[in-house]
Amino acid sequence: MGTYYLTRRIYYDNPYIKTFRARVLQWNEIDGRPALLLDATAFYPGGGGQPPDRGTLNGVAVVGFEVDERGGVWHLLKRPVKTREVVGRVEWNRRFDHMQQHTGQHILSAALAQMLEANTVGFHLGAEEVTIDVDKPDLTATEISSAEWLANRIITDNRKVEARFVSKGELSLLPLRKQPSVQGPIRIVEIAGFDVTPCGGTHVTHTGEVGLVKVTGLDRRGDKLRISFLCGWRALKDYARTRETLDAISRHLTTGYEEILPVIQKLQKRLREEQKLRENAEKALLEAKVDALRREAGVNGGRLVKHLAGNRQEAQFVASRLAGDGLAAVVGWVENGRPQMILARGDGVDADMASLIKEIAEKFGGRGGGRPERAQCGLPEGIDIEKAMDFAAEKIVNEVG
Ligand SMILES: [Zn+2]
Repeated sequence: MGTYYLTRRIYYDNPYIKTFRARVLQWNEIDGRPALLLDATAFYPGGGGQPPDRGTLNGVAVVGFEVDERGGVWHLLKRPVKTREVVGRVEWNRRFDHMQQHTGQHILSAALAQMLEANTVGFHLGAEEVTIDVDKPDLTATEISSAEWLANRIITDNRKVEARFVSKGELSLLPLRKQPSVQGPIRIVEIAGFDVTPCGGTHVTHTGEVGLVKVTGLDRRGDKLRISFLCGWRALKDYARTRETLDAISRHLTTGYEEILPVIQKLQKRLREEQKLRENAEKALLEAKVDALRREAGVNGGRLVKHLAGNRQEAQFVASRLAGDGLAAVVGWVENGRPQMILARGDGVDADMASLIKEIAEKFGGRGGGRPERAQCGLPEGIDIEKAMDFAAEKIVNEVG
């Protein structure tokens, strides 16, 4: 059926044409790029969720398209081309990939509509990801999987896919999956005995060329469900990558695929048990340390204990325990290169740790504060923590007497 566009769309009649000749109707500049208006083109300029093609005109890269109100297709070029005739080459791997994803989308959308009454309300074909949005957010993974199986059955049926322009009269008689969203001549895409829908994109001519369709993700978004999927070579590449990853994990765990999850769960359980054991051992070690410090103080007959701890946790624990025993404690440790100190005392000790810590901080150039029974300070890098502790201990001894 004769449909008039200023630029004849070669891909409407034959989406497999990769090389074509065309006459240049006009030269211009668009967005700072040299642009050619051609009398015919095999390049798909983009639209309806399908990205534009890439390729060359006379060997010069085509970087974009603009379609004017007359249906003329302007080809934006990397460099100017001055001839009256051009040879165009479509980057075929990219285009065929788009044909596979796009035809697969028709099949999957039709399967979802027929089996689950889920209507496709959005379509995105990205460089990595392909998604559709459907208007039934609560579909389960099992339901989606059943539609995926139907879609793959339609693919292996190798049914004919036919695209053509139809008159208004014929259009009204067709069982369309959705209503056309464009004005003017309507093009429909029919998958024999399965689906009829309006579309202006490029498709394969037999469903078998889609290869397969695999759903890869579901994402609920308000009143819509976003379904990610892959078709054809993309799906096969994804399958290869997935196998590679599983193989690597499987080799690493020296187990078969089915055992991967139970083995990981067993390892996680053992790790939790080991962590618990370590925590208990650390606690016991700290208790033993405190016991030793207490005994030491008893032997000396004094009530002051000095201890250099390995970390903050140990320091806080030791200081609290010793103060609880009615002793006075000077506990130091080094954190990220900076010396830290806690001064703590039990009820029976008559010393003001808050004012003592201020004195120490002042002497060594640090900052600190606290309460009379417990105070803490941080000292600058390079200060000898043991010297600072000795100074504190001496002060306490003088005060306590
Ligand atoms: Zn389409």
